[in-house]
Amino acid sequence: MEFRDLKRQYQHIKPMIDANIAEILSSAHFISGEQVKTLETALASYVGVKHCITCANGTDAISIALMAHGVGAGDAVFVPDFTFFSSGECPAAVGATPIFVDVCSDTYNMDPKSLTATIEKIINENELKPKAIVAVDLFGQPFEYQAIRLICNRYGLLLLEDAAQGFGGHIVLPDGTVKMACSLGDIATTSFFPAKPLGCYGDGGAIFTNDDYIASLCRSIAVHGKDMEHPDDPNAKYNNARIGMNSRLDTLQAGVLLAKLPLFKDEELEAVSHVADLYTSFLSGIDELIVPVVKENMYSSWAQYTIQLPLSFSDGETMNRRAVQTRLKEKNIMTNVYYIKPMHKQGAFKDTRSAVADCQVTEELCGRVLCLPIHPYLEDKEVKFVVSELKIALKRTKTF
Ligand SMILES: *Cc1c(COP(=O)(O)O)cnc(C)c1O
Repeated sequence: MEFRDLKRQYQHIKPMIDANIAEILSSAHFISGEQVKTLETALASYVGVKHCITCANGTDAISIALMAHGVGAGDAVFVPDFTFFSSGECPAAVGATPIFVDVCSDTYNMDPKSLTATIEKIINENELKPKAIVAVDLFGQPFEYQAIRLICNRYGLLLLEDAAQGFGGHIVLPDGTVKMACSLGDIATTSFFPAKPLGCYGDGGAIFTNDDYIASLCRSIAVHGKDMEHPDDPNAKYNNARIGMNSRLDTLQAGVLLAKLPLFKDEELEAVSHVADLYTSFLSGIDELIVPVVKENMYSSWAQYTIQLPLSFSDGETMNRRAVQTRLKEKNIMTNVYYIKPMHKQGAFKDTRSAVADCQVTEELCGRVLCLPIHPYLEDKEVKFVVSELKIALKRTKTF
């Protein structure tokens, strides 16, 4: 059983995908073809944000967003300690210092209390300027929007939503307003890596903002810093106004995403949510095992279904988690551990200010979490099979 079954999905939508790809092959507009614009319009409208700028991947999207806001040397960027490496890699790549913040043990998302404490600490140290927050929608669930928005306002920080895993999720505000993932930050980024909620057939990413000027800067940065501010000046075309990068979404990937988007909206989000609910109902009774919590008025796109194994299975001395994974693999059930290492302990941050962090919850999670197979095409009987094999694996491993 695959962890995320992309072959089944392709079989389901083959005619649309094949038609879009064939059309692009015959047009031969492989870079910046019309499908890219069409996709940007469709994505912006879906998430309810004025501008969508596609780019080569979700990592570039974060870097471009930070560059467009002038984030760089001397700036502190607050990032959850429990996330994929890019969330902290990009602030560092643009010259800023990622400062890692602990997460909540139930939602796995950035803890507003830890965030405030960490910002205060940086202010007191008086070495770095607090500049931005990278709020990650981890495993598909939108970050703690209301609390973190307030903190950004109080300290005057840029709010960047890293929605690489969150695309398709949403929140409902107390007044009933629905806000989609990718519309929750001053700027937001996502990834179309194949295994993400909306994936293409290679690398891809996008940036979302309501700000016209920031949008034009992002467009410029994504194409070698090309001068985009003077469309009427014929010489501007040959002027590179700033240092940028080469980061575009291929037309072929846009064609794949255009074929997938309607299905994603109309069927897959609901189907994957059903799988998650089924897991939660089957797993809820198991002693000491913790199922993922989605907060009231939050809707996850379920990029991952991540449980916490009973404490006795925690990695470290015992290696019991690995034993559980091995047993499941023998039954052809693929699992993963996201994430096995806190960000502040990554080798790249060794001996830097980024390595200093007070993130006990993250350290415990890294030892206990296990991600089970999840995707919209997983059948009820397969979920039941995973759960019964997991129960057996837990019993057997315990008596080791
Ligand atoms: C996958 C991911 C990224 C990076 O996306 P790529 O398209 O792989 O570059 C960034 N942040 C998070 C949280 C991710 O899961």
